[in-house]
Amino acid sequence: MYAKPIVDPETGERYLPVAARGAELLKTTLLNKGTAFTRKEREAFGLVGMLPDTVSPIEEQLTRVKNQIQFKATAMDRNIYLNGLMDRNEILFYRLLVENLAEMVPLIYTPTVATACRHWSKIYRRSRGIYITPRDRGKMAEVLRCRPQASRPVIVVTDNERILGIGDQGAGGMGIPIGKLALYGAGAGIHPSRLIPISLDVGTNNPELLADPVYVGYRKPRLVGDEYREFIAEFVSAVQEVYPDALLQWEDFSNRTSFENLSTYRDTLPSFNDDIQGTAAMVVAGLMAATRHIGSKISDQRIVIVGAGSAGIGIRDQVATAMVDEGSARREAEARIMTLDSRGLIVEGRPNLPPGKQKLALPLEAVRDWQIEDHPIDLRDVVRNARASVLIGVSGVPGMFTEEMVRRMALHAEFPIIMPLSNPTSHAEVTPSSAIEWTHGRAIVATGSPFPDVEYDGRTHRIGQANNVFVFPGMGLGVLAVGARQVTDRMFLAAAKALADAVGPDLVAAGQLYPSIADVRPASLAVAKAVAKQAMADGIADPMPDVDERIEEEMWFPEYLPYRPV
Ligand code: NAD
Repeated sequence: MYAKPIVDPETGERYLPVAARGAELLKTTLLNKGTAFTRKEREAFGLVGMLPDTVSPIEEQLTRVKNQIQFKATAMDRNIYLNGLMDRNEILFYRLLVENLAEMVPLIYTPTVATACRHWSKIYRRSRGIYITPRDRGKMAEVLRCRPQASRPVIVVTDNERILGIGDQGAGGMGIPIGKLALYGAGAGIHPSRLIPISLDVGTNNPELLADPVYVGYRKPRLVGDEYREFIAEFVSAVQEVYPDALLQWEDFSNRTSFENLSTYRDTLPSFNDDIQGTAAMVVAGLMAATRHIGSKISDQRIVIVGAGSAGIGIRDQVATAMVDEGSARREAEARIMTLDSRGLIVEGRPNLPPGKQKLALPLEAVRDWQIEDHPIDLRDVVRNARASVLIGVSGVPGMFTEEMVRRMALHAEFPIIMPLSNPTSHAEVTPSSAIEWTHGRAIVATGSPFPDVEYDGRTHRIGQANNVFVFPGMGLGVLAVGARQVTDRMFLAAAKALADAVGPDLVAAGQLYPSIADVRPASLAVAKAVAKQAMADGIADPMPDVDERIEEEMWFPEYLPYRPV
């Protein structure tokens, strides 16, 4: 069991009181230091003879680990290796991440985690996190108590139905909460004892998994309808009972359930959906940085969002909120944002518009004077008629932003802002190099996947990555530090502003709208402070003096403390 560090009143030394001994200590992942146990600790904890002679400081262990990673042939091998390291020595694992974020994030999270989820049952080695299945109905609180209790934890929960872009992965979806929480630990310094991954394994409709002889999940079709809703309701009340001070992050639910779960429970407990709200805050932060650089405002832009799924709907809502914050009326703001789905522009009067999309509909009068070649109104019509200045791609469709569209944007926008956010790299709506070339170097581009710099006309354009890792860990740290009772849209707006402020003007001038991945920790700290202050200002958290210092202190840095036996 992990206990908090204590400061020795006489010497001032920070140490951990540790009850475990011998093999048990080496197997306790939050306490194991491996070869870094000092000779004194080896004597005191019954470890003599259980470790090779040399005492290695953490720096030496990191060299060893990096060498071992080099031996792994594929990204998937590295992912398996890193998860193994987390299952042996969490301090070393997190230290490796903190010091090598740019290199490690793609291995423990996207894109590699998608392969890990897909092959979960085949690569399964050791349990981490909590799986809850329909067998556990009526006793979910008991199930949640099966792991050591944690105060103020972050729970990332998925029902595995829409894992990244690869659909229903059944129990394999667990890779997502595990990976995402590792980013909370590395990015915002939330101690791993407070990170709880949960898979709501309500069954799977993936025929390959149901037929797989080594599938580890609940081998039944998914719960649906009222049975599903009752399952979620019991889960939420079990969380409230067992972890009343938790932050809950909904992750990779289908479009059908994600909006319903979020709206049903967002006032019940502090919770948010990163696919919807985190992505939107990233986009707003990028638009703030870009418009500030070009001496304009978000509300001066004519914004086109291509894709009306979790990301698109969230982006449309938060961009409108940002415009209202700049002084626009809500309706006026919404009329400046055009959203398209696979059937074209979402506009009032479009036949068979599902209820979830009706609120995205552009007023009919906004398109009355448009010259449209044919119905339905497609992206080409929109770019041309609306004189779009911002193009955001969350459609998952590669190459959607054509040369003709981008060149047309450049006719009426001095600095077109173009965000092809679809992942993976091959799905981007346009490549940064094309967008920059077609606009003669004027486009400001941010992407969902990492892209290299673009050299154009003697200038280097740096391409910022709109990775949600800049928002959710800091959101978690801020919410938990002040005990916010809800996670509100104003807190996401505060996060976006803090993130936009965290990108230096030099970077933005070079075209980069987001910090570099290596700078996630300072960005998370800025986001956490902003979010915490917004929660207090809005009365959803109690006032806390010296909040900045408290948040800085709360940010855990992975290092070995001396252990004293208890
Ligand atoms: P989703 O499946 O919920 O939504 C996709 C939407 O695109 C659907 O509404 C679909 O109707 C629409 N679409 C499909 N074909 C289209 C077409 N030809 N024209 C217009 N719209 C079309 O997925 P999502 O969670 O909203 O994610 C969408 C994409 O955004 C994914 O590729 C994802 O990787 C990416 N994304 C990036 C970030 C980021 O960069 N931070 C965050 C979240 C999602």
